[in-house]
Amino acid sequence: MIVILKPGVSIESMGELVDFIQDRGLRIGRIVRGDGRTVIGLLGEEQRIPIDRLRAFEGVEDVVPVERPFKLVGRELQPEDTVVRGRGFAVGGGGFTVIAGPCAVESKSQILECARFLKAQGADVLRGGAYKPRTSPYAFQGMEIEGLELLAHAREETGLAIITEVVSAEDVEKVGEFADILQVGSRNMQNSRLLRRVGKSDRPVFLKRGQSATLEEFLLAAEYVVAEGNANVMLCERGIRTFENYTRNTLDIAAVPLLKQLSHLPVVVDPSHATGRRDLVVPLAVAALAAGADGVMVEVHPDPENALSDGPQSLTFEQFTEMMGDLVRVREALRPHLAEV
Ligand code: PEP
Ligand code: MN
Repeated sequence: MIVILKPGVSIESMGELVDFIQDRGLRIGRIVRGDGRTVIGLLGEEQRIPIDRLRAFEGVEDVVPVERPFKLVGRELQPEDTVVRGRGFAVGGGGFTVIAGPCAVESKSQILECARFLKAQGADVLRGGAYKPRTSPYAFQGMEIEGLELLAHAREETGLAIITEVVSAEDVEKVGEFADILQVGSRNMQNSRLLRRVGKSDRPVFLKRGQSATLEEFLLAAEYVVAEGNANVMLCERGIRTFENYTRNTLDIAAVPLLKQLSHLPVVVDPSHATGRRDLVVPLAVAALAAGADGVMVEVHPDPENALSDGPQSLTFEQFTEMMGDLVRVREALRPHLAEV
């Protein structure tokens, strides 16, 4: 349920309203101020409060039931786009953000070489996994704390913000000390304990769609994070599992405009994990931009043939440069007033 307040409502009226709501066992999920109006999103069993009782309150302009299961991430509560900002980056709000780096941090020279190259090419955020949730228990599992330290070192040298995955609720505090953005991976999209824990963090959260998750399940996972108080969430479409075997997953490009219709959260596309093939990454990054995404996340490696993880889908430096050029040209063609990527 959404409560829309009259402009200029007094603190006393607001206080009485909040007390009334809480006395009935509901809670304030989020207060959104924008365009001269204040809107309150209520969470809990809505049948405990008759809508007419709320409408009768001084200061209340209207009360609107939200039919969809996700309340806080939907456009009903907040029609304006969320823009997630941090050290030198903004995701959403008309820009196109490029997040790039190796699948995993492998060594000091590897991550520094990547970071320097990506900075020079105009990337916005450096990615690199320190904790790798691999499909096989025998595959490289990441450098863990040492990997986090190397990422921090790369940030110090280049100024690029860093994003890295956190795989368990117990690690959130430690990873948050290093990372500018916390990534929740596809395998953990429905790990509600982890979602709740990153929801209590002050770091922005990059949530990847589960490979078998519907868009509604995806948005409900984001709702977990926002319901704990962290409204800085980005949604990442990274491909879903289908019957097609030529690609690792199938990029659900329709998810981009759909998520943007349903939710105010920024939408980023990861064409690397979506395809598993570096020859398909550039065309799908361009498709993501054309479909209205707010950015891309791509894997890049100085020597993909010898990468410890996801080499086949990692772009070479040359391909990354080509991608940046294509993105600028397509953006210019589609939105000439916003030429830069
Ligand atoms: C990743 O981005 O490092 C990753 C493991 O991706 P996903 O969770 O989408 O598989
Ligand atoms: Mn990877």
